[in-house]
Amino acid sequence: MNVAVRAEKLESTQHAADPLDHLADKLFHKMGTDGVYARTGLYEHVVERLAALITQHRETATEVMRFPPVMNRAQLEKSGYLKSFPNLLGCVCGLHGTEREIHQAVARFDAGGDWTTSLSPADLVLSPAACYPVYPIAAARGPLPQGGLRFDVAADCFRHEPSRHLDRLQSFRMREYVCIGSPEDVSDFRDRWMVRAQAIARDLGLSFKVDYASDPFFGRVGQMKAVSQKQQSLKFELLVPLRSEEQPTACMSFNYHRDHFGTTWDIKDATGAPAHTGCVAFGMDRLAVAMFHIHGTDLAKWPAPVRELLDL
Ligand code: ATP
Ligand code: ZN
Ligand code: MG
Repeated sequence: MNVAVRAEKLESTQHAADPLDHLADKLFHKMGTDGVYARTGLYEHVVERLAALITQHRETATEVMRFPPVMNRAQLEKSGYLKSFPNLLGCVCGLHGTEREIHQAVARFDAGGDWTTSLSPADLVLSPAACYPVYPIAAARGPLPQGGLRFDVAADCFRHEPSRHLDRLQSFRMREYVCIGSPEDVSDFRDRWMVRAQAIARDLGLSFKVDYASDPFFGRVGQMKAVSQKQQSLKFELLVPLRSEEQPTACMSFNYHRDHFGTTWDIKDATGAPAHTGCVAFGMDRLAVAMFHIHGTDLAKWPAPVRELLDL
């Protein structure tokens, strides 16, 4: 085998075709980085209709908040993110020096050198999940009312997990319903949403299963955290077989944080005990990719009940 042929073979095994690749041209434009894509009108239309469907299922007395793609760094640090997923975090940084130092950094770049050595961290990180900013906001309001509080939140999220797979992005949209209340408020909330979410998935014509899950905690101690999270049934996922039946893709997750955020932010329930919290998260981009993978890229050919449901 000559060198060129060998190189080509290597290339093709490294970039082995993925079952979702057929969608790329219709849904995305490349932007130079794996897992970061411009979205076509067709794709965005479906994301918007899915978001509207999720809104239709919003429970009464749920307060809507939309967050920017960045959040306060100290708040994320206090939330314990660095203990669990330091490897996934993206941090905002900038040229914060004097005018002279900034000119020097730019001059280094102009001369073909590295300007990034002059960067220093800002007080912002890229939000890794939509619900983190809601807990300090709720805490500032004082003790919870009877029955707790419910929020509808969304944000563009970032996780440093570059992948060529269209269902694992670095920048993706997350929508969440969050409950902050007594342990009973939160477990009832999660039970209701686990039933409702499966009905939504069924209505959308998705095949799926719901299973226990754990978060990919960093490092060896993290593996123990993951085992304990599974044992305590703190996380469930709604899994759709996109790439394979054996390795299905989590399109929604149902999370019970116990009193983690309540204690961290000193949120008290109506009895004065540390509040419990839970959230149901919808991966909007994963749901949209799943819809196109299962029903095709021609919306006119989607099943009539699905078209009707989404008002397409
Ligand atoms: P996974 O096990 O696939 O890594 P996760 O457990 O990290 O998922 P969560 O932290 O529960 O996911 O995030 C909530 C939802 O956000 C997920 O159910 C999924 O739909 C979506 N999501 C998470 N990571 C990504 C990603 N890299 N690209 C696209 N969507 C994602
Ligand atoms: Zn959440
Ligand atoms: Mg993950």
